[in-house]
Amino acid sequence: MTQTTTPARPKRAAKPNGQWKIDGPAPLNTNEEMKAADNGLNVRQRIEEIYSKQGFDSIDPEDLHGRFRWWGLYTQRAQGIPGGKTATLSPEELEDRYFMLRVRIDGGALSTQQLRVIGEISTEFARDTADLTDRQNVQLHWIDVVDVPEIWQRLEAVGLHTTEACGDVPRVILGSPVAGISKDEIIDPSPVIAEISRRYIGKPEFANLPRKFKTAVTGHPSQDVVHEINDIALIGTVHPELGAGYDLWVGGGLSANPRLGERLGAFVTEEQAPDVWEGIVSIFRDYGYRRLRNRARLKFLLADWGTEKMRQVLQDEYLGYELPDGPLPDQPTEAGDHSGVHEQKDGNFYIGLTAPAGRVSGTTLTALADLAEAHGSTRLRTTPHQKIIALDIAEDQVKDFVGTARTLGLEAYPSLFKRSAIACTGIEFCKLAIVDTKDTMIDAVAKIEERLADHEGKLPRQLSLHVNGCPNSCARVQTADVGFKGQLITNEQGEQVSGFQVHLGGALAGFENGEATLGRTVRGLKVAADELPEYVERVVKNYSASAAEGESFAA
Ligand code: SF4
Repeated sequence: MTQTTTPARPKRAAKPNGQWKIDGPAPLNTNEEMKAADNGLNVRQRIEEIYSKQGFDSIDPEDLHGRFRWWGLYTQRAQGIPGGKTATLSPEELEDRYFMLRVRIDGGALSTQQLRVIGEISTEFARDTADLTDRQNVQLHWIDVVDVPEIWQRLEAVGLHTTEACGDVPRVILGSPVAGISKDEIIDPSPVIAEISRRYIGKPEFANLPRKFKTAVTGHPSQDVVHEINDIALIGTVHPELGAGYDLWVGGGLSANPRLGERLGAFVTEEQAPDVWEGIVSIFRDYGYRRLRNRARLKFLLADWGTEKMRQVLQDEYLGYELPDGPLPDQPTEAGDHSGVHEQKDGNFYIGLTAPAGRVSGTTLTALADLAEAHGSTRLRTTPHQKIIALDIAEDQVKDFVGTARTLGLEAYPSLFKRSAIACTGIEFCKLAIVDTKDTMIDAVAKIEERLADHEGKLPRQLSLHVNGCPNSCARVQTADVGFKGQLITNEQGEQVSGFQVHLGGALAGFENGEATLGRTVRGLKVAADELPEYVERVVKNYSASAAEGESFAA
């Protein structure tokens, strides 16, 4: 009897990942088709020549929901649409006929003249709205497309722009807010930031990436640019033979699959830094996964390749030379938010100001520009902690500056809780939001300040409170001591109300003076928005009771 065997099924071919160098450039989804059909940067001409003249209804939907982002423009959420089941709404029902506009501020560096122009644009064209974002941008709202060319003209007249402030592009370059002025700086990152911006930003060859690409550069020992959550970061360090330069990190990112960046173990000189940046962004462009948008960040490629291969491909295919091994930068010993008054290396002072949850207004920004000039300063910096710093204040001007800034709602000596709180855009303007964030946080901080007025001095260190309006992580919820992720929850009466999933125990080196860690979700722990102050009070009291024994927030 002959035995019959079932023939082995041929292996199903793996689906292509959409890596250009391996699978070719054929688009595998509608986003990739949109980008292949026309580079996002090209929409500027249509905005100037057609849409701004013929109004909102003339905008091609593919431009409106795609390419507008390449110039920092997103439609904002229609007013009054509740959080939650927005998936059933069409984009037209969910979105307003107005835009949010992000002004790109590489390294956070602003002159008073530039700040005044942003303030005036806000007052004239944005209903006096302005938010300091946690990526050193300023975000305006209520922008009408008919005003966009005039806004660009005013920004560009003072050297500002909105180029690639959003979209699948190299986003704003985070830079140390005290670059070039700090007494203990290891290396001034300003030349590297300026050169990357000059060579690569707004260039079509880097304007079709798999998704966004985030950069951070600092030479400050506090590592003040949240480097662990960027696609590429250059962190100041000193090589025993080559002197001051940078330690190279890649592959950080938050959102649904948070991952901290990793060191490639390579030392990068100031001269090499722009080329290394070009190499990493090129790897992302050429090898990054494009088929599935939720796997299209560099962190997924790093997870599959590992650091050794990433470094090898960088050196072999893009640089053409080997980078030397580099030393691990020292752990920060101070918080990197630059709050308060600090002496600069030239004997003047810089003053870090907190606006509650980053919320300011055009009027406030214009007044701050006037105030800085009246105290002899023409330079400011935004920070990745939603703060703004005035530089170059003479010692005898500090007291008056601090007092007058306070009358504008900008506090040099905020309570620990106000200093710690950052919030994303939330339901007020963001189409993805489920709950309110800014007002919730501002309100909660005021209550927490009251409840814990005699307690904050007992905390052994700063803490961070971050509020997100949805499962995305624009306000870095997983990296906070106490993070709140917006969602609808069911209260005791069985009603759906705004609330938050709690994350505890996250940390970044530049804010927490220690090892970076991602916070963990406390299973089942959800807090209604109006219970947030009570919850923070409980956590802080428990923490300060146990912190003497060195326990973390997550313990
Ligand atoms: Fe919008 Fe969500 Fe980002 Fe907040 S975290 S700005 S709600 S996408």
